[in-house]
Amino acid sequence: MLIDYHTHHVRCGHASGELEEYVQKGIELGLTQLGLSDHMPLLHVDPAAYLPGMAMPMEELPRYVEEAFRLRQKYKEQIDIRVGLEGDYIEGWEAEIERIIQAYPWDYVIGSVHFLGEWDISDFRQLDEWKNRDAYEVYSQYYDAVQKAARTGFYDYIGHIDVIKRFGFKPERGVEHLENEALKAVKAAGMAIELNASGLRMPANEMFPSRRMLELCHEWGIPLTIGSDAHQPDRLAQYLDQAAALLKEIGFTELATFNQRKRIMLAL
Ligand SMILES: [Zn+2]
Ligand SMILES: [Zn+2]
Repeated sequence: MLIDYHTHHVRCGHASGELEEYVQKGIELGLTQLGLSDHMPLLHVDPAAYLPGMAMPMEELPRYVEEAFRLRQKYKEQIDIRVGLEGDYIEGWEAEIERIIQAYPWDYVIGSVHFLGEWDISDFRQLDEWKNRDAYEVYSQYYDAVQKAARTGFYDYIGHIDVIKRFGFKPERGVEHLENEALKAVKAAGMAIELNASGLRMPANEMFPSRRMLELCHEWGIPLTIGSDAHQPDRLAQYLDQAAALLKEIGFTELATFNQRKRIMLAL
């Protein structure tokens, strides 16, 4: 079984390739399931005033969903497409987020924390903000937001749960207890997380999350799915063989997949 549950496409403004190119690439690679999971449109900041290319405009969302379902039908004999959304968690905007999640028949919704207030901690154009802040404080705020995201009940799994390490900024003080609290909240919510392989091509130089966190997930029975976070068709499923091998090595025997918001475990 080869699946990829975290992908983007040209609509978001910082990825290349049409949805159909990802589907064709998935077929070429022999994926059994392909999850389409583009970014939720910006809600809490004015897209016209913010940095460009953050996410698809709100009016594109219905077109994205419609196209994804059309492709699922068109290619159903060759690949099993699952239609998802990488839903941001933004504190204070829960009602608006819930409205978007309720409005479409998603197979799954990923809960990702990118924003701390108006700062997108995953945007390479906003790295200067680290200079204004205490790294431990940033990690602490980030993991607090992850816990809140888990408690909303909006999401099927948390995306790149330790993405705060992405650019290599690390507090001197240990952050393991913050990571553990976030995983406890995931466990309490009965959610899964993903092993997001894209960290391997970033300054963090390791997948999201760390092996230590994966081992805790295994110990605590938190299910894992996998995703490449591809922003170009050529990167579809990139490093996922490594991701699957790592999970096996740790002792996982199944992967989480999602259909109409139901989790289905498949043999790894
Ligand atoms: Zn993106
Ligand atoms: Zn993300």
